[in-house]
Amino acid sequence: MDAQGSGFRSEHQAYRTLLSPLAVGRHTLPNRVIMGSMHTRLEHMDRPLERQAAFYAARARGGVGLMVTGGFAPNHDGLMEEGGPILVDLAAAEALRPIPQAVHAEGSKILLQILHAGRYGKHRSPVGASAIPSPINPRLPRPLTAAEVESTIEDYVHCAELAAHAGFDGVEIMGSEGYLINQFTVERTNNRDDGWGGSVEKRHRFAVEIVRRTRERLGSDFLLMYRISAVDLVEGGADGNEILQLARAVEAAGADILNTGIGWHEARIPTIAYMVPRSTWRYAPARLKDVVSIPVVASNRINTPEVAEEILASGQADLISMARPFLADPLFIRKAAEGRADQINTCIACNQACLDYIFRERPATCLVNPRAGRELDFDAFSPPAARLRLAVVGAGAAGLACAVAAAERRHAVTLFEAAPEIGGQMNYARQIPGKQEFNEMLRYFSRQLALHKVDVRCGQHPTAAQLASEGYDQIVMATGVRPRRPDIPGIGHPKVVFYPDLLSGRVQAGKRVAIIGAGGIGFDVAEYLTQGGPAHPDMASFRQKWGVDESISSKGGLKPAELEQPARQVTLLQRKPEKPGRTLGLTTGWALKSSLAQSHVEMLSGCEYLQIDDAGLHLTVNGKPRLLEVDNIIICAGQESERGLADELSALGIKLSIIGGAELAAELDALRAIDQGTRLAMTF
Ligand code: NAP
Ligand code: SF4
Repeated sequence: MDAQGSGFRSEHQAYRTLLSPLAVGRHTLPNRVIMGSMHTRLEHMDRPLERQAAFYAARARGGVGLMVTGGFAPNHDGLMEEGGPILVDLAAAEALRPIPQAVHAEGSKILLQILHAGRYGKHRSPVGASAIPSPINPRLPRPLTAAEVESTIEDYVHCAELAAHAGFDGVEIMGSEGYLINQFTVERTNNRDDGWGGSVEKRHRFAVEIVRRTRERLGSDFLLMYRISAVDLVEGGADGNEILQLARAVEAAGADILNTGIGWHEARIPTIAYMVPRSTWRYAPARLKDVVSIPVVASNRINTPEVAEEILASGQADLISMARPFLADPLFIRKAAEGRADQINTCIACNQACLDYIFRERPATCLVNPRAGRELDFDAFSPPAARLRLAVVGAGAAGLACAVAAAERRHAVTLFEAAPEIGGQMNYARQIPGKQEFNEMLRYFSRQLALHKVDVRCGQHPTAAQLASEGYDQIVMATGVRPRRPDIPGIGHPKVVFYPDLLSGRVQAGKRVAIIGAGGIGFDVAEYLTQGGPAHPDMASFRQKWGVDESISSKGGLKPAELEQPARQVTLLQRKPEKPGRTLGLTTGWALKSSLAQSHVEMLSGCEYLQIDDAGLHLTVNGKPRLLEVDNIIICAGQESERGLADELSALGIKLSIIGGAELAAELDALRAIDQGTRLAMTF
């Protein structure tokens, strides 16, 4: 173990700043990376403490010098939901001990996050600074009395004491994202006229007193990180001067580190989803650096060591907080330090298996890394009994995941792909504006295939006889899907284009387009068409489109959006009577819908398709006849399994495994494909 206790030496010069130690309070951190707080819901699984300890220990082993737990409520009013994490008594503190112990055993440090949900609490009695409801919670909060404000501050301090008792190195006080402390700090949610509202100082007092009293009671060795809302992105939020004033006050009250949060949960601007360009929010922590002398942390949409290094080297922050990137790859830091950054499994900001799972009350994992949060389950797979010869047919997400995981287990793997390149449906996804992170998935898989010496044969369509004759021990069919061809009169008309032909660039669409099918791909295709093709947004165009005021001179850091004319006039259609978009991701779908609304995309439900001809698409909408005079009709009507080869092999009596879309086309996405491919490989 090296001097900083991170278990390996930080030798790589490309990330010199990122990997350099930093003195914080009375502690020295081995590098400039914090693993930010994540709600994982692992506490709702079997063996909850063992699972959490394994989860954090894996990240500590991978080089994270400082990490933060998910939020713990300091009292019952502060719960996010009934049964959520809470730390109010000694017994609970004792029970948490295995978590810091496991992290310390790996030479890392861990803070417990104290989070009072305030008016975001999804339980019977949410409280707030004032009785002002949130647009994302139907329950009206009860305003805390002055006496309750005092007792709530005491509850924060007591919670910090319990964290210390459990062995944590300190706490993060969650003051951003629109939770209780943030509700006190701004006019939007605080109209009190007592000692806790009115002037800016009084609105800030709740935050400052929590920090001051925690420092006073816990002493100077205890790490105290405060997470400030560096920009609220809601009307009635703080302006830039108020934020700087709070930062100074929190430092003076005794905080060691100023972490930053971006935007409230009720903000109508995406802050961490894939369509947000990397490091968009760096301007917000940069402003704080000018007014405080404690380290400032940058966060949100930082997912590679290059981006992190660049922000630090530019002097805009002292530390980088990343959360989801450590779900995607617990070895992120270690790989960067060892000159293996090209082997990092990059978080693609899809939210599908982390935040979307959490909002559906499922324990988080990761689309690109099914082991995340399931460390104990994967540890339980037996090691391979012998080295097998494996054929995987199809290099889409399922086939790639299976081939790589099997090769990691030292099996000899041959991967066949009919197309000239690997990637399958991912090659279409990465053409969608804002979905450029899919390129990272392909980079990762390509590198792993090479590293583990998988014999990749692109442009090859093996026959059943060939596979049978080559004597493989296991054959995996991951031949994927083909687009469904709906039975509509005129489906063969030249105006009709199937989505792979559009997204591969083989066909260009005209100016007026109808899309048949409003699933995930129909929505993505609508975005592609209105944005004019595969151009990914840059920071400036993102801020313009969503109305982000970089100077934060306005309340909440907002300004009017500047919308560009859409590249095409698009109508998105579905047969079901319900509102389109119900299958989209919970935490990303609203932003996609909002983007399409900005581009004037017309959405029609209750459609019956009658005929396609030179005039366009004839249909009825809720029984009323209509003609869409369009140049093209793009078919995004789902997929069917491509499994002819599998059927042939089965007919020859050859044992095989079928995974991904080849097994079941319905609702296939990369999440299911990668999980299934990886888990199958673990059984070989
Ligand atoms: P999908 O979500 O199943 O949507 C297919 C659409 O086609 C539906 O709107 C369906 O609605 C319509 N349809 C089905 N059969 C039809 C027929 N015979 N004639 C006309 N319309 C028909 O499939 P997808 O859009 O291809 O997406 C595939 C998978 O990728 C899904 O699991 C999806 O979740 C995932 N994905 C997600 C995202 C995202 O969340 N952003 C993006 C891309 C892909 P009606 O039957 O009502 O018309
Ligand atoms: Fe990142 Fe998606 Fe994994 Fe979440 S599920 S950590 S957003 S790659």
